[in-house]
Amino acid sequence: MTDETEVAVIGGGATGVGVARDLATRGVGVALLERGMGLNAGTSGRSHGVLHSGARYADSDPEGAVDCLRENRTLREIAPGCIADAGGLFVRLADDDPDYFERKLDACREVGMEPTRLDPDEIRERVPGISENLAEGFVVPDGVVYPSRLVAATAASARDHGAEIRTNAPVTDIDAVGDGDPERIAVHVDDGPSVTADAVVNAAGPWAGEVAAMAGAELGMRPTRGVMVAVDYPDIGPVLNRCREPADGDIVVPHGEQAVLGTTSVAVDDPDAFEREDWEVQRTIEECGAILPDLPDAAVERTYWGLRPLYEPDEIGRGGRGISRDFAVVAHDAAPGLVSVVGGKLTTYRLMAEAVADHVCGNLGVDEPCRTAEESLPGADDPERLDELVREFGAIGPADADVIGR
Ligand SMILES: Cc1cc2nc3c(=O)[nH]c(=O)nc-3n(C[C@H](O)[C@H](O)[C@H](O)COP(=O)(O)OP(=O)(O)OC[C@H]3O[C@@H](n4cnc5c(N)ncnc54)[C@H](O)[C@@H]3O)c2cc1C
Repeated sequence: MTDETEVAVIGGGATGVGVARDLATRGVGVALLERGMGLNAGTSGRSHGVLHSGARYADSDPEGAVDCLRENRTLREIAPGCIADAGGLFVRLADDDPDYFERKLDACREVGMEPTRLDPDEIRERVPGISENLAEGFVVPDGVVYPSRLVAATAASARDHGAEIRTNAPVTDIDAVGDGDPERIAVHVDDGPSVTADAVVNAAGPWAGEVAAMAGAELGMRPTRGVMVAVDYPDIGPVLNRCREPADGDIVVPHGEQAVLGTTSVAVDDPDAFEREDWEVQRTIEECGAILPDLPDAAVERTYWGLRPLYEPDEIGRGGRGISRDFAVVAHDAAPGLVSVVGGKLTTYRLMAEAVADHVCGNLGVDEPCRTAEESLPGADDPERLDELVREFGAIGPADADVIGR
């Protein structure tokens, strides 16, 4: 059996559902295929969940930081129930480089933020348990985003606009059908109906290289893994970022009764089979403990790893970890009609989707504007409705397992 549609989207993480929503709101027929039993089965459900203000990237990737800042504001408008307005604090400990702190502060101003500088006493009032070794800090508009809600609500919006959302639909092969010009593309699903489409969007995150290969195309991915450790540590206040060159264990994310600590960055060859090492957990706890000295004594509630869907040509250019998490939209000469979207951040998922949808609509001759920044998501300001959608799409993930349904 074969389903006919205009665009097949492979991958039901934030990027894939974002693309499905964007195309569907422009009146394009979409079928989304996700291999997991539910949506949000990959990286999206395994991130820190920081709604980035862009401060983290302001010095290394000002354009990416501007994107973050704009999307941060947009998501607060269209999806308030998916976000906790925690605010963010960059803190310098006495051993950290003061010049780096000043550069970061300047860079934040240059990308359009108004960071407020705080002295140690002012910081201690906001974060009582913070280290005695604290030197200074500044406030930025970071927040916390709950990916399960964001992915489910985005999928619901796509569906409301006519998209078909299929889970338990692992794509196994992609090939051209017919001898027409343009040809149609068949996307084969294990143990389920195939989908035939005019265009295919590969939004398979860290697995995007494998999916491109199914169509005979090459996509150089260089995924890296990072661990997150959720501990019992209530009421931290803002998202805490250690203000130093990016390193292991420099983010603490407030989650009500818990704190989510992260992270590491280790290259991974096979996104389906990678090591999960104890040293990553220990180092993350230890490094975050330099910011909040009581953290290492807190009970560990859950530990999970995520894989950054990094695109190799970008990463080589940037040379490693100071890199931005910027994104790429790649059209494949070897597989006409297939476009891959890789890299990026949860925070910028809507913008990534807009870029891909612009590209696909250009190829299909669809002349409709993007509306996703103006239209609120279903249940946007209703956490209970959002959690119903999470359950309906099976979108629960470890990143916000302590929040959903509470
Ligand atoms: C450790 C870590 C921390 C992070 N922290 C943050 C943060 O704090 N803030 C932020 O903004 N961003 C953060 N990110 C980045 C962000 O999480 C990712 O960039 C984003 O979630 C990627 O979403 P995606 O939809 O592209 O990929 P994914 O969420 O991985 O989605 C890809 C989907 O494709 C599916 N798939 C794969 N193969 C197939 C197939 N053959 N057939 C059908 N489906 C398939 C997978 O099951 C998966 O659901 C973090 C990332 C990591 C790794």
